[in-house]
Amino acid sequence: MTGPVLVVHGGAGRINPQHAQPRAAALARALDAGWAVLTAGGRALDAVVAAVQVLEDDPLFNAGRGSSLTRAGTVEMDAGLMDGHTLAVGAVAAVRRVANPIRLAREVLHHSEHIFLVGPGAEAFAQHRGLPLVDPQTLITEERRRQWQAHQPTAPTGDTVGAVALDVQGDLAAATSTGGLLAKALGRVGDSPLVGCGFYAENALGACSTTGLGEAIARVLLAFRAVSLLSQVSSPTEAARQALTLLKERTGGEAGLILLSPTGRIGVAWNTRDMSYAWRSQDGHVIHP
Ligand code: ASP
Repeated sequence: MTGPVLVVHGGAGRINPQHAQPRAAALARALDAGWAVLTAGGRALDAVVAAVQVLEDDPLFNAGRGSSLTRAGTVEMDAGLMDGHTLAVGAVAAVRRVANPIRLAREVLHHSEHIFLVGPGAEAFAQHRGLPLVDPQTLITEERRRQWQAHQPTAPTGDTVGAVALDVQGDLAAATSTGGLLAKALGRVGDSPLVGCGFYAENALGACSTTGLGEAIARVLLAFRAVSLLSQVSSPTEAARQALTLLKERTGGEAGLILLSPTGRIGVAWNTRDMSYAWRSQDGHVIHP
């Protein structure tokens, strides 16, 4: 298979079955947005941003508007992305006033001398780059407030978002965006904005976006581990499964991931109860909300 190929996910964990219809619609919109970039000859990096941005804007997902709330009842979001052609990385963490953290991460990738900005410094950079700062209250939904009030323990909510893509030039990219764990401590940063953990892309190896318990994922460099397995096993699905087996054995953690090989073969696996994903290639598309 050759490009373009686009895979998106809407998180691993426990997904509310009542949301299946609107999740499917949102995943389809995310695929459309990324696919439009890819079929116009655009870059994989811009396709993953376009797809992730749609999911950040949808309040069902734990990213952008609709992010899970911290222990203090506030929103703190993390996002990161990588260009498989140049190995350029951009990431942000603990941002409170940016509606689309993945767009800010792309600004960091292209226009900062650094690869990772956090908190107020990241927000100042957003302003400097002309991204609007929003009232953090506008990112909080009633549903997330109810979830938070129910005093659930710190846990993945199952709605983090991510994307991987292969473009017609043969370049790969990966992106991940999250509000993080429900009821997380203020200032907590998980795997999602950490290169090699929440995302990784390298043309010669593959591309991956992960979701699940960040404290476990980061310890085994899950995204890098999965792409590294691609050349050693028979299929991307097998590589994804083996990476998760290792995660479980070494940390007890649960997660899910989407994976693309350099030739556009797709792998998806999870060891949580549910995983939401969708993909599109020249052969067709699949939506698994
Ligand atoms: N990995 C994310 C984090 O730990 C959460 C998730 O994927 O649901 O912040």
